[in-house]
Amino acid sequence: MNELNDLYQEMILDHYKKPRNFGSLPDATAAAHGDNPLCGDRLALELRLAGDRIEDLRFRGSGCAISTASASLMTEAVKGKTKAEAIAIFEKFHPMVTGQGGPDGLGKLEVFSGVSEFPVRVKCATLAWHTLLAALEGKNDTVSTE
Ligand code: ZN
Repeated sequence: MNELNDLYQEMILDHYKKPRNFGSLPDATAAAHGDNPLCGDRLALELRLAGDRIEDLRFRGSGCAISTASASLMTEAVKGKTKAEAIAIFEKFHPMVTGQGGPDGLGKLEVFSGVSEFPVRVKCATLAWHTLLAALEGKNDTVSTE
């Protein structure tokens, strides 16, 4: 179990140090900001939607390792997916990080399963997802976890 945790830690640190899909998207069609004042995590998310599909997305911002790694892995998980598919992933991810569900079908996102042991970190892990939902709903607004 410890070895597994080490593997998860390593992957989180890797995505924190080298976040994927980081930057801005010049031809974005949807955007939102996320703010987690409890930890000081902030991010800006830009998406390019083609009909119902998330063709591409980028994020910028600064935050703790969990929030940055979560945003990085979220962008990888939802790129190319439809809105409904992306929402379905979050509907599995949220119970996992709050300890209400298992990691089945979540692939790499399973690295955040340990977050359920640290309730204060749940907001760090879900910030990017709440921001994604706001962007998909066309709110173009700042979502705050508080
Ligand atoms: Zn945080």
